[in-house]
Amino acid sequence: MQRAQYVLLDFDGPICDVFSGFPAPEVAAILRKMLKDAGVDLPPDIQEQDDPMEVFRFSAQLGSNLNHATLKTLTALEVEAAATAEPTPGAIELIQRSHATGKAIAVVSNNSEAAVTAFIHTHGLLPTIDLISARVEPDPSLMKPNPHLVRQAIAQLGADVSRSLLIGDSVTDMQASKATGITAVGYANKPGKAKLLEAAGADLLVASIEELL
Ligand SMILES: [Mg+2]
Repeated sequence: MQRAQYVLLDFDGPICDVFSGFPAPEVAAILRKMLKDAGVDLPPDIQEQDDPMEVFRFSAQLGSNLNHATLKTLTALEVEAAATAEPTPGAIELIQRSHATGKAIAVVSNNSEAAVTAFIHTHGLLPTIDLISARVEPDPSLMKPNPHLVRQAIAQLGADVSRSLLIGDSVTDMQASKATGITAVGYANKPGKAKLLEAAGADLLVASIEELL
């Protein structure tokens, strides 16, 4: 952390639990119902899918109108969820301290830019965040593990890759970090995750955000 001049943080996990107040399975159910009401015949794996991001990924095969409609509904639901999202212990302090010690901070998220902005604003963190590189496009293939959002953050911050790290709790965060050459910090917030993150190339592993403080 002392060496890092550019701190990139994934949103859901390292910063907050996005769906702690508005559970992800409920969000996924609303998206599935919207598609069913539009006449879409959902395959079995999507009918049982509790992850709203996976329903959104599926929507890419349904043509531009339904893909855009899914993006719009998911974004609205994420903004609603962000209002009751629990901050991760230590996350707000990590952002404040990183900012106070002159580091640049970017949030790099597959969640919508609107939801990230809403959360950051609610918690008084807007002055501490240099950049939000999050989902705005309807094309789900641009989300992590695609390095697009990380590359965008590096370019817009003008970051030195060798002094940059990304803190993430998913295999996809590790993959996107490795693809861009920045240090991948795996936040293993659930049993069994450390192994998965390490196998995906994590350079460092922590079990809590406090460890980074
Ligand atoms: Mg995450």
